Amino acid sequence: MADAEATARLRAGRREEGAMRAAVMTGPGRLDVQEVELLPLAPGRIRVRTGATPFCATDVMNADGVFGKEPPTILGHASMGVVEELGPDVMGVRVGDRVVVHGTAECGRCFYCARGRTDQCSVIFDRPDGPPPVARLADGSIATAAGNVGGYAEVMSVDARQVVALDSRLSDVELGLLGCGVTTGLGSVFNVAAVVPGSDVAVVGCGQLGLWMIQGARLAGAGQIIALDPDAGRRDRAVKAGATAVLDPDEADPVEQVRALTGGYGVTYALEAAGPALAQRQAVLMTHRGGTTVLTGCEPLGAKLSLPQVPVALHGRTVVSSQNGRVRMHHDIPRYVRMLEDGRLDASLVVSAEFALDRVEDAMEAARTHRTVIGVIVPR
Ligand SMILES: [Zn+2]
Ligand SMILES: [Zn+2]
Repeated sequence: MADAEATARLRAGRREEGAMRAAVMTGPGRLDVQEVELLPLAPGRIRVRTGATPFCATDVMNADGVFGKEPPTILGHASMGVVEELGPDVMGVRVGDRVVVHGTAECGRCFYCARGRTDQCSVIFDRPDGPPPVARLADGSIATAAGNVGGYAEVMSVDARQVVALDSRLSDVELGLLGCGVTTGLGSVFNVAAVVPGSDVAVVGCGQLGLWMIQGARLAGAGQIIALDPDAGRRDRAVKAGATAVLDPDEADPVEQVRALTGGYGVTYALEAAGPALAQRQAVLMTHRGGTTVLTGCEPLGAKLSLPQVPVALHGRTVVSSQNGRVRMHHDIPRYVRMLEDGRLDASLVVSAEFALDRVEDAMEAARTHRTVIGVIVPR
């Protein structure tokens, strides 16, 4: 069909094959819900009817344009839904499968996947031609999708290498958390820090990642779990998640507060889920000599982290990063699902609101002002 004809149909409000509503970032801080037309599936791609997509801090930064996303782009970088159509050359997934759409693809063949570092897969990080086109807007322009997902939409076009099919009794909202929040939080504890039972852990920041880290540390058998957040409501949630002590980092030097609780030494593991470079530096310094700090947060592109040399270079501290928890999605996600199903993990501590697609701006505002821990967009 000619582009002009498709555009005319979209403008006339008539729905045709591929028409759907999506929240499109059309410029810094501008998020418009509009009718768009999903492009035909390229080889290796599948169409997924969206069930639930969390609105996480990364999406706020994407919406603000500080993370390098070029408009127009459909936001929502991890999601879940039901497979509706397979493009050419797709294997390993069927129409009707209920799938988690993971924030990080795993091709299994690139330089990084071959070295076991699926968290750095080239399918997401090395794209000389830019992110793949996903949908056509009414004005004829072509939209991409954040994280190659675009979950703030009724339908997603995603790479078949970034979905995990599951047979689970979890709700859509719970499963939607598996593509980024649960994996980054738990993977930081189990895969990256590899917390040893009985050792002391500090969690810096008690948003959704921090709350999953606390639950993970509890499951790992940590000794003390010291949670830090300036927000009293989030500190309450941290206690419910399993924190043994909560601290307000604005009340006194957080490093000194943590040392005071650990016989003057500091913790063995500091898990950072806050974002600001100051919080990351404090996380490193609240470990004892030889301790490990896991970083997950990011400020706008170009932000820098500086660390004092002696505590790191001479005092044996390890500083590592955790991109999506370094999970292997087909191995880790089904295990995390089982832990949610049998009640060892509690999603209700993390999810604090649900929003229809038309209320995506409210979801963004709630995330920006920390009124929600995590709001979830439910497009249907
Ligand atoms: Zn790969
Ligand atoms: Zn996320």
